[in-house]
This record gives sequence, C-alpha cells and structure tokens, in this order.
Amino acid sequence: MSLLTIFLSSLYPRRLSCDLCGRDARLDTQGPGAYLCPDCLGKLQRAEQEIPPDGLDGLYAGLLYNDAAAILIRRFKYHHGQYLAQTLACFLPEIPAVDCIVPVPLHPARQKQRGYNQSLLLAGELARREGLPLEPALLIRRRDTANQASLSADERPGNVQGAFRAHGQVRGRRILLVDDVVTTGATLCACAEALREKGAAGVWAATVCSAHKW
Ligand SMILES: [Zn+2]
Repeated sequence: MSLLTIFLSSLYPRRLSCDLCGRDARLDTQGPGAYLCPDCLGKLQRAEQEIPPDGLDGLYAGLLYNDAAAILIRRFKYHHGQYLAQTLACFLPEIPAVDCIVPVPLHPARQKQRGYNQSLLLAGELARREGLPLEPALLIRRRDTANQASLSADERPGNVQGAFRAHGQVRGRRILLVDDVVTTGATLCACAEALREKGAAGVWAATVCSAHKW
C-alpha cells in the first residue's frame, strides 16, 4: 500500500466509498451488505440456478459475469483487491448442507507471487457466515497450470487434469468448493475428482460469478 493510499484512506475511510465506482456514496445498507452504491448494485445481475457440469453434485453461482462483475473480479485477483472479499462474498448464494468448505487452491508459487489466494478469502467469509469449518488443507495444487482464462474451452480440462490432490479427513464428508468464477467448470471438476478419489460423499461448488460455458 502506497503512502498516498494510506493518506487518502485515512481521509476517506473505505467503508464510505463504493467498491466499484469509488464515489462517496450513502451505501445501501438494506442490500446484501456489499460496499456498493445503489447505481453499481443495479449493474450486477443475479445468475440463474444452473444445471452443474458433470462431476459436481451441485453448483451455486451468485452473479452473471457481466462487465461490472468482471471489473470487481479483476481488481480482486490481480490488483491487490483483498479488501473486496467481503463485498464479493455477499453474492455467494445459499448453499446446501455440507460438512466443510474448501477453497480451490492456488499453486504455492502463484500464491507467493499474488500474495493471497482469492478463493480462500471468499471461502473464509462464507465459512464465517454459515458457521461451517474452513478446511483449505484438504486439497493441494501439486502442479502449476496455465491460466485457464488464456485457454479455449476444449483445452481447459486437460490443463487441470490431475493438478489437484486431496488428503486428510475427506472420506464420507460432504464438501463445498469455493471459487471466484466458474466458466467451463473444468477446475472445479478436477478438484471434485481428487476429493472423490479419497472418498468424499459429495462435492458441491459455490462461486461468486458464473460465465457459464459448459
Ligand atoms: Zn458505485
């Protein structure tokens, strides 16, 4: 954080500004609890309940991945936007009854480069809200993969196939995966496969956004 940012944030506490447009705004306290002004809140669209890709028992996405949502997600992932976790997690929808919450892991090298795992931040918010255990150690990413966004839908499953490994207390448990955006579902399905190999009783997924290409 730059000195200028620290100075400005002391003058204008973030809580009084909109996470999307940055305007000083009377925040919509009646809304989902997100730090968004009514105008920006109006630009976000709820996702429809969708049939999950094969390999998941259910998929719960909050928002359509439209232009406004994409700005928030890019800022969250690539521009030190950790502070956006709280706003974005407000859009994670109702989830089924599960035993624990597991974020989609980043490869350690990538996490070091970024400084945080955005999915872990979201999963943490959701676990607090639902009063469920957060268990990131159940799943590791053993292979770094090309960024899925840089690949075609056909290339994505092969890119993440076998990239994850589950261990620890997996057998017989109902597990909810959390990620920021689902596009083809290839990453979530590769995670689910690793968890099922270790005996998970069911694997569901919740994401903030859905770009629905499966
Ligand atoms: Zn706004």
